[in-house]
Amino acid sequence: MEKIIALNHKMNLNYGDIKSYINSLKKLDLDIIVFPTSLYAKMFIDNGFKTGLQNIYYHKRGAYTGEISPKQAASLGVNYVLIGHYERRHYFHETDEEINNKIRCALMENLKVILCVGENVYEDYKIILKKQIQRALENIDGEVMIAYEPRWAIGSKIIPSNERIKEAVNYIKSLFNYDVKVLYGGSVSSENIKTLNEVNVVSGYLIGGGSTNINELKKIKEVVC
Ligand code: PEP
Repeated sequence: MEKIIALNHKMNLNYGDIKSYINSLKKLDLDIIVFPTSLYAKMFIDNGFKTGLQNIYYHKRGAYTGEISPKQAASLGVNYVLIGHYERRHYFHETDEEINNKIRCALMENLKVILCVGENVYEDYKIILKKQIQRALENIDGEVMIAYEPRWAIGSKIIPSNERIKEAVNYIKSLFNYDVKVLYGGSVSSENIKTLNEVNVVSGYLIGGGSTNINELKKIKEVVC
């Protein structure tokens, strides 16, 4: 099975860097989903990349200064959206109810949703993952993908053991009545990708910090593709 590679740029790269980044990414010839800063989404779309937004709002239109609606995103040619990323939950106090509304509205516009879930280091992963997934998907019919990102692994250069990832991913899969795709995210790098890639239940990777570094992506590609 071909692994999915998704790139979460977060709030990195300035306008002046984007053109050369896109050119280098094209040369890498990698089947990826890019989640750039929303400002640059159109540039990736116009260059033929599967493109997503890192966040979305849950109304179609209206007086919501600073927000982007799923309808607007879809009308631009955006295909994917990340919902419930840890940094959104943590810094912007995004609640399960908001996440649920965002997913519902995104699916209504046929955006593909990657729901991010993950536990803190001191938490029981089963309790947290079940709670996050059930609340996020309450009364939602459509299918989503999951990014399993243990909070303590994001940006920390520390990754869980392969056994732990396998257990958590299998647990997530057991909560669905369809064959849900589960990506792993959290400090994925050229140094650990060989080890991570031995976990065969994972459908791919969500790469944050390393995603703007073309050399890093080149090395990851050599292992994954
Ligand atoms: C992320 O934020 O989705 C992520 C995986 O970050 P990092 O790769 O930097 O840990």
